[in-house]
Amino acid sequence: MVLLIEMNSNDWRVEQVIKTIEDLGYAVQKSATQTNTILGVSGLNGDADIKQFSLIEGVSKVFKVSDPYIFASRDFRQDDTIVKLPGLDIGGEKFVMFAGPCAIENEKQIYTIAEKIAASGARVLRGGAFKPRTSPYSFQGLGKEGLRLIRKAADYFGLYVVTEILESSQIGMISEYTDIFQVGARNMYNYPLLKELGKIEKPVLLKRSFAATIEEFLMSAEYILAGGNSRVILCERGIRTFENSTRNTFDISAIPVIHKKSHLPVIADPSHASGFRDFVSPIARAAVAAGAQGLMLEVHHDPVHALSDGPQALLPDQYTKLIDEIKGILSVLGRQFN
Ligand code: PEP
Ligand code: MN
Repeated sequence: MVLLIEMNSNDWRVEQVIKTIEDLGYAVQKSATQTNTILGVSGLNGDADIKQFSLIEGVSKVFKVSDPYIFASRDFRQDDTIVKLPGLDIGGEKFVMFAGPCAIENEKQIYTIAEKIAASGARVLRGGAFKPRTSPYSFQGLGKEGLRLIRKAADYFGLYVVTEILESSQIGMISEYTDIFQVGARNMYNYPLLKELGKIEKPVLLKRSFAATIEEFLMSAEYILAGGNSRVILCERGIRTFENSTRNTFDISAIPVIHKKSHLPVIADPSHASGFRDFVSPIARAAVAAGAQGLMLEVHHDPVHALSDGPQALLPDQYTKLIDEIKGILSVLGRQFN
């Protein structure tokens, strides 16, 4: 069972609640985010306990343990979480474009693409320096040199950086170059990594795994949130189904479902969802209409020679056209392009 403490309770009040519960013979664990204090209580049995605990002064809400996630839940925080970077809000009514190549390949490539996407409204430059490839013989990324290049290009064009982390030993190094850590589909279940990312302050963009239910996806977010890092952005990137005419199947319903269940920002990645550039724009438009608070798009000026995911990369002109269409959809919805 988990108890939510009333907002604005002082330390003394929280300690009183803990003491009351301990005096009843239960073990209590405290966990606090910037805005909320939560107490986990173990050793309980049955529903009767809920009433008993909700009557303690200072307790605002009681969650049964059968609610698998607490910090990620809309019950825990009713308002949308806005993940803030200086001059950029991710979440709520705002819409943010993340774009760039699948992988950083060389200086000319990342500068060329950064310039194009910045000119048409992207705020975050994506690009992998450490690539989790299905084949060990495929391009694995430029590593630290890639991080240096994406940072330089992003700074030059006034963009933020998001790049993927593969293992917790990379946190310190990647932190020097990135604004947002990306956890890819393959690592959504890497709980030791998620726990470590829960200890840092930088935002984490968490992608849904290939076969993860929405509940499992939110449980992974919970690992980061429970560690104390409240800056989590969720990314729907398609799931694996029996359909094989696209790389994955974009789960459009995940967007409204997550909005109902969670306060966390949800963005969509139609590039990995579809696998083919011809399908990226229609899926992107649908995702925006369904309420995505941002898109992550792969863009390449020379996709034939791209070292990874060329077939799904939008050409710069396709990207610019899509941005105009998205602005139209957002204005119908009364939402803002950020
Ligand atoms: C990526 O964004 O480059 C990536 C590898 O995506 P995913 O983890 O969704 O497959
Ligand atoms: Mn890719």
